[in-house]
Order: sequence, then structure tokens, then C-alpha cells
Amino acid sequence: MDSGVTPDANPPQHPPPSSAPDQAGASLEPCPPGRRAQAPSRDYPATEAQAPGESDRPSDVTRSPSDSGGPRKSAWDVVVVGGGIGGLAVAGLLAQAGRAVLLLEASTQLGGACLGMTWDGHRYDLGVGLLTGAGPGGAVGALCERLQISLPTMACDPALQVALARHRVDLSRSAEGWWPEIHREFPDDEAGWHELVPDLASLAADRDELARRLPPLPPDGWLDRFRCWRSLTLQRVTGVARPATRKLRSAAATPFHQALLEYGLGAASRQALEACLWYLLLRGADECSTLEAALALQRLREGLAVIPNGPMALADLLAQRTREHGGEIRLRTGAARCVAERGRIVGVTTTAGETIRARWVVTDVPPGVLMGELWPTARGVFRRRRPAQGPWEPRCIAQVLGMAIPEAYLPAELGYHCLVVGDAGRPARDENLVFVRRMTDGLAEGASGGLARLCVGRFVPPSASADGGAVARALLEALDRVIPGVESIAVHQRFAPASALAELWGLPMAAVRYTVDSRVWLGRRGLPHRVGWPGLLAVGEWTYPGRLISDVAEGAMRVADLIAAET
Ligand SMILES: Cc1cc2nc3c(=O)[nH]c(=O)nc-3n(C[C@H](O)[C@H](O)[C@H](O)COP(=O)(O)OP(=O)(O)OC[C@H]3O[C@@H](n4cnc5c(N)ncnc54)[C@H](O)[C@@H]3O)c2cc1C
Repeated sequence: MDSGVTPDANPPQHPPPSSAPDQAGASLEPCPPGRRAQAPSRDYPATEAQAPGESDRPSDVTRSPSDSGGPRKSAWDVVVVGGGIGGLAVAGLLAQAGRAVLLLEASTQLGGACLGMTWDGHRYDLGVGLLTGAGPGGAVGALCERLQISLPTMACDPALQVALARHRVDLSRSAEGWWPEIHREFPDDEAGWHELVPDLASLAADRDELARRLPPLPPDGWLDRFRCWRSLTLQRVTGVARPATRKLRSAAATPFHQALLEYGLGAASRQALEACLWYLLLRGADECSTLEAALALQRLREGLAVIPNGPMALADLLAQRTREHGGEIRLRTGAARCVAERGRIVGVTTTAGETIRARWVVTDVPPGVLMGELWPTARGVFRRRRPAQGPWEPRCIAQVLGMAIPEAYLPAELGYHCLVVGDAGRPARDENLVFVRRMTDGLAEGASGGLARLCVGRFVPPSASADGGAVARALLEALDRVIPGVESIAVHQRFAPASALAELWGLPMAAVRYTVDSRVWLGRRGLPHRVGWPGLLAVGEWTYPGRLISDVAEGAMRVADLIAAET
């Protein structure tokens, strides 16, 4: 991956600056992602379906990207539902592997949570802001390498900053950089940190090694169960020593909060780590296993970066690869439900009523988003299967403020991502945690016109106040801790209500957090995930209790490999 200047493949188009009055509560406009927004709408007539597995295998069909207006295929190797990063990554990889791939996206734009908004001519990335796993060894880096994508990124070091009531800590990418900070801010806890950090790193490395050998989870049938058992018990097979496997199981069963106490960390140290965890996973230290925490913190070491042209650049490049390799992408085409035949998913029906058949369906969207309709319609054996109990219940929404201040007021030591913990007496989560992101419009010098742009936000329970004025005041108050006097120097400020964010990302809530027992299946993040029926695999952030693009990328690579090996 490049860390330097690469021309933007699809630069965001900004409307001319407006002289709209500055006020909290005004709505923001969805950022038009360039050419896609102008793409003419297409009609997709219903297709005569043909069962997969019959003589006419989908891969035998002549490839013809829909964009080129070629003949419609009757059946596909793979239909991907949802054009977020997860769906796009699977589509790109499988198209590259020579499979006939069709991606269905319900909205007019690809990218899902990567979509941003424009305001007064500037882009604000209100969803995805930081990119973990962007360096060598990271999942996003690996995905880009496999698809030969040159993604323009800017490395963030420090990776994260945490501002507590009486402490400021810079957490750099390399753990070596942490020690002077720990020594300065938490001298009494130093020994505990020195034990904890390497232990977490070795846990994460062992888990990744083990995960490479696990079949999709949960295991489906006796062969998968046997493979799981073998991976978890036999040292020679996994390459992970048996005591290490035992440690992994125990870390998966121990809440991180308990581990922090066992390592003797004091309240302030615990708050700093809790803040990172909440920001990375939207989960508290009591809800998150020690193994999950280890994986989340490992993501920081795998290289944290921002994409100067915004996260849509990644989505655009993935879409470009998919099309280049003959994959087809249909916008404004929502999937309504899966079609099942003889105990296997054999395709999807779109909201327009078209039935599209495929050997595999990969869903990038939680069944909850589809109003529970992404279920097989067949009777008999399917009916008797237990419906999958979902981890897709929305439990958090985002409250986000986009603002601009003169560059001169921005403290030089403020990195790209700073977490401000409001009350030292409460856990670093929900309204008690505010994130501050510096924004970039592009790499050109002076692109910001002397204004520094910030995205300030927090994740709150759906029951929290939705009053824009009150939210903006609370966010500004927290921001004041890292940029004193910010309220009086703000040039622009606009609160983006959850409804606008939800509309933008196509999610029922602006941000969702998933209720799932994180201790099962060794953290499960980034592992291929079966929804419960043969022929249907899941990808994307809803499949596990993590939410980062690097996890989504890791899962997408595994799902694509699995399908490529079996088709
Ligand atoms: C507020 C917020 C902030 C975040 N910040 C970060 C961050 O800083 N760093 C990071 O790494 N990750 C972040 N994430 C997580 C990141 O957004 C996700 O990991 C990733 O973008 C999810 O991609 P996805 O493909 O799983 O899903 P999505 O991006 O949600 O894509 C799903 C797609 O499916 C489409 N769709 C929905 N229903 C249908 C249907 N019926 N038929 C067809 N298509 C359908 C949607 O329109 C959408 O395009 C953030 C998420 C949120 C919500």
C-alpha cells in the first residue's frame, strides 16, 4: 500500500461553497460519490431462472459486465447482496478468481457506511474514519495486495490519543512508543502494563494462527466439527501449541475488565484502555472478552491510517476491480429473500420480484435490515431448521457534529483520532466518550483554505436525547478539553441527526452494535460465518461483534477463498 500521494481514482465532487448560516441542527447533504451519483438508472427485467448444478454451469456463461450493456446471464456462480466494503471485497476477489459474480446494491450508491457528507464544499466522513490493518500484515493491506489496489493512505502515528480528565496518552503504532507515555501518566501501573501488552500481543498472534485453520463457523456437519476439534486440540495440525490453545480458550472466556484487574491496572489506566476498546468495537471492557480486546488492540499495531480522499476511495477501487474482472454490479436492486431448493440456498429474489439463481449467495447485510425476509421460502426440511438467532440487534446510534475551525487554533499535538473521556468516575463509553477526528479533503496543500475540519461524535443508546442543540453543546464541551475555547472560534458547526446518518448508510440506526456472546468461537471476528443454510455465507460487519473494515476485509478474503475452493 502506498502511504504517499496517489491520484484519487474517483475524487469526491463538492458543491460550490455556500454561505449558509452556521447553526447546529441543520441537515447535511449526502456526499455525491462522483460518477456513481450521475450514473443513469437502469431497469432490470426479470430473468428466466435455471437451477445451479444443472448442465449449464454459471461459470460457463459468457462474461458481460452490465455496464457494457451485454446480454443478461441466467445464473451465476455467486450473488452478493450488499455493496459495502464486505460485499465489494468478496465480489472483487471472486471475479478475479474467474467466477461469475453479480453484486446487488439496494441504494443508488455503493460503499455503505463509507459514504460521507458534504457541507460547504468540504467532505466529512461521518461513518468510517480510521483504517486499521492498513500496514504490512494487516487485513486491508493484504486485500489491496491481492487485488493489486494502490490505495492512497496517510499513516497515523500516534494511532490513537486518549484524553482523560487528568491524563493525556498517545498510543503509537509500536508498543515501544507506549512505554514513555505509560511511565509519565501511570507510573504506579507500569509493571502491569508491561505484562499485559506483550501477553495480549501473543494471544492475538496465536489466535490468528489458529483461525487460519478453522472452517467457517459455526461448524456445519460432522466433518467441520472434526476439523474444529482437530484445530483446537492437536498441536501438529494447528502449529499453535496446546498450552497456547488452552490460553486462548481461557482468554475467550474472561471478560477484559476482569483481566485488567488481574494485571493490577488502576482506574485511569483501565479507562484509557476501555476508551480504545469502545471506539474500536463499541463494546465495554465488561462485555468484551480478553481475546477480543487483544485482537482489537492488535489492529492498531497492524497500521492505522486515514484515506485522504475518504473511505469511498476504497469502495470505488474494489468496485472498479470487480467490473474489470467481469463482475456485474446492479445498483437500486435490493434483495428481498433467499430462494431455497432441496435443502440449499440457490439464489435470491429481488424487491422487484426478479429471481436470480446462483450456486452461492453471500450476504453483506444482516437479516434484520431485510426485515427478516432473507430467509428460505421452501417448506419441509427448511421449515424445521431453527432460524438463526441474530447478532444484529441495533443498540447504539451515532451523534455527529461536523465543524470547521481556523487551522491556527488546532493544537499541533492533536493527532488524527483523539478520544475524550468526560467523567473520570464513569466507564469510558456511550455519552462519556467523545471522539474527535481530523478530516482531510485531499492531499493538495492548502486544500482546506486555512480551515481545519473536524468530525466530533459519540455513540449513544437509542434512548439518548436526540435534541440537536443539546447534543452539539455536549460535543463542543468535550472538544473544549482538547481545543480550549473551541466554541467561540468555531467557523462552522452542524449536527448530523441519527436519521440523516441512517438514511446515508442504509442502516436502521446510524450505528449498530450487535448483541452476541463474544466468547463463542474464539472471538469470531473476521472468520467466515455460516448463516445456517448450505449455499449461504455471510460477510460484513454484522457477522461478528467487531465492526472494523479490517475485520470485514479479513472475513471477505476467507469467504472468497472458501467459495473459490468449492466452486
Ligand atoms: C458510525 C460508524 C463509524 C464507523 N467507523 C469506522 C472506522 O472509523 N473504521 C473502521 O474500520 N470501521 C468503522 N465502522 C465500521 C465500518 O463501517 C464497517 O466495518 C464496514 O464499513 C461495514 O461494511 P459492510 O460491507 O459490512 O456493511 P455496510 O457498509 O453497511 O454495507 C451494506 C450495504 O448493503 C446495502 N443493502 C442493505 N440492504 C440491502 C438489500 N436488501 N439488498 C441489497 N443491498 C442492501 C446497503 O445499502 C449497504 O450499501 C464504522 C461504522 C459506523 C456505523
